[in-house]
Amino acid sequence: SKVKAMSAEVVDSNPYSRLMALQRMGIVENYERIRDFSVAIVGIGGVGSVSAEMLTRCGIGRLLLYDYDTVGMTKTDAAVQTLSEINPDVVLESYSLNITTVKGFEVFMESLRRQNPKNSVRDDARSAGVDLVLSCVDNYEARMVVNQACNELNQTWIESGVSEDAVSGHIQLLIPGETACFACAPPLVVASGVDERTLKREGVCAASLPTTMGVVAGLLVQNALKFLLKFGEVSPYLGYNSLKDYFPTMEMKPNPQCSNSACLERQKEYLLAKPVRDALAKAK
Ligand code: ATP
Ligand code: ZN
Repeated sequence: SKVKAMSAEVVDSNPYSRLMALQRMGIVENYERIRDFSVAIVGIGGVGSVSAEMLTRCGIGRLLLYDYDTVGMTKTDAAVQTLSEINPDVVLESYSLNITTVKGFEVFMESLRRQNPKNSVRDDARSAGVDLVLSCVDNYEARMVVNQACNELNQTWIESGVSEDAVSGHIQLLIPGETACFACAPPLVVASGVDERTLKREGVCAASLPTTMGVVAGLLVQNALKFLLKFGEVSPYLGYNSLKDYFPTMEMKPNPQCSNSACLERQKEYLLAKPVRDALAKAK
């Protein structure tokens, strides 16, 4: 399995020196903040396990891993084993569950709310326990459940997907109330310039390319780092068409007729907070 194939290696005495160079070079203002962040990864398969490894190598503070599958042992336990060898500083939490079941959803929600025991004070006064959720699942139902949880928790997340023919993929930033949620726009008909579908259908034996998954994981984690450490621009939507090496981007506004009631609540809050945003923008 991909999880087991990740190579363990000895971490040198200063594993972050090359990452800290990002700060010296003025790319990132404060790289060390990475240790304060908690990231949840849902789906520890081709994209999720590689993303988890990248964040572990970057020195992320805490990773919460969710998957219902096994590779001998549970995928999440296998990942924790491998990741802790790569970087023992990362706080790793393993949740072997199906997020689409009632019980699984409950544990999922509760774990997303729980604060990092290592963080005493948070300077941003966020009530949520995680800073970002990455969706690396391979089916529509699970994505809709991540969407539901994040809309309810007002939690920003990034969705990822690889097409069933394995030659294209995408990532999409979802900020409740501000950008389209996963239920706002029918995902299979979005005009993206990528002609292949970037979502797998149920029951279809999908193709798989570790290269496409690796590229999508790279785009996903790069945008996660930009979001967390506040550098560069986070793509609202970024497609990857490997046959043409074409990377379309676009923005998607929330749908005022969205079928998800939590999305509508977040949209209302976002509109109400507009004067505050405007005042803050003016003050800058
Ligand atoms: P692998 O490539 O490791 O064999 P896969 O081909 O089954 O995985 P991927 O697309 O690579 O699938 O990864 C998707 C991951 O999301 C899988 O590990 C799958 O178990 C997990 N997943 C899908 N739906 C759910 C769910 N409802 N709850 C928890 N995990 C889920
Ligand atoms: Zn919506």
